[in-house]
Amino acid sequence: MTLLRPDIAAMAGYVPGFQPPDNEAWIKLNTNENPYPPSPKVLEAIMAELGSDAESLRKYPDPASRAMRQTAAGLYGFPVDWLITANGSDELLNNLIRACAESGEEIGYVHPSYSYYATLAEIQGAKVRTFGLDENFRLLDFPTRYAGKLFFLTTPNAPLGFAFPLDYIDELAERCAGLLVIDEAYVDFAEFSALELVRKQANVVVTRTFSKSYSLAGMRLGLAVARPEIIRALDKIRDHYHLDRLALAAGNAALNDQTHLTKTVARIRATRETFVAGLERLGYCVIPSQANFVFASPPDRNGKRVYDALFDRKILVRYFSDPILAHGLRMTIGTDLEMEQTLAALKDIG
Ligand SMILES: *Cc1c(COP(=O)(O)O)cnc(C)c1O
Repeated sequence: MTLLRPDIAAMAGYVPGFQPPDNEAWIKLNTNENPYPPSPKVLEAIMAELGSDAESLRKYPDPASRAMRQTAAGLYGFPVDWLITANGSDELLNNLIRACAESGEEIGYVHPSYSYYATLAEIQGAKVRTFGLDENFRLLDFPTRYAGKLFFLTTPNAPLGFAFPLDYIDELAERCAGLLVIDEAYVDFAEFSALELVRKQANVVVTRTFSKSYSLAGMRLGLAVARPEIIRALDKIRDHYHLDRLALAAGNAALNDQTHLTKTVARIRATRETFVAGLERLGYCVIPSQANFVFASPPDRNGKRVYDALFDRKILVRYFSDPILAHGLRMTIGTDLEMEQTLAALKDIG
């Protein structure tokens, strides 16, 4: 083991949600994928990029993602140098830490939220500090002036599904001496976004993913909006050909079809409301959700019992053994039929 950095050799590594083989018949509600296909324009764009003989794949892709960035800039109303694309928003989270925190310096995030932040910090040798939530979903013990190099705020929160109010996010930006990274992975399912804070606060970065609302988890696409100075730093440290030709074509086409996005998001939100009502009829306690999943607790507050019973029925949801989450389950919103079947199973399980 002397060949390796001792901290890397000792680290546990992140464990992603279970991905069963595609040919197995699961109702898969564990990693917040979209149950509907991406825009048909995405398939058209990929086929057009490939051509009849895949000739285009012979050449490198555009290292600057110009077409896709231009489209995103028009859509969000920011100059193009305020935007960067990424190989999944995970790439951005990683590079944000690399750009801001030297070994031994601190980054922070909310517990519970996305634990991958901790893995990324560990790789960089950065220290991690977490802040809990009070009963009103405000940060516990967050200092008037937080001196960490970077703070991740997941909103809507995963796995709980609530969103922080805009004026509170604005206040947190003021209180952060370093960057405030607003991870908006689920924002398309929410009532509002914090994107405008990027204009107002120099230390705010907003990250987005195509994995949930755009149904493109398999394509690995994300983007960030921030001041050009921050974007330039992220641009310097990324892999120069981080997005392949098919991903660039898909991402651009997906952004250009907002009608499809609006339609699938509306369907998922409607299914979410029906599912929540059904859960409440079964006596579940459900946190109001702004995302494409809900966090709900059975009457006996035994998440593991219900997880196992659903698993036996080939329904896959997310259970967290962390003591502050073990009383419930995070369930992705699938199709109406999938959620009806899930409710029927939950009723049966009791
Ligand atoms: C899904 C998710 C991501 C990762 O998105 P990718 O673009 O698939 O890498 C980031 N943050 C949160 C909170 C997520 O839930």
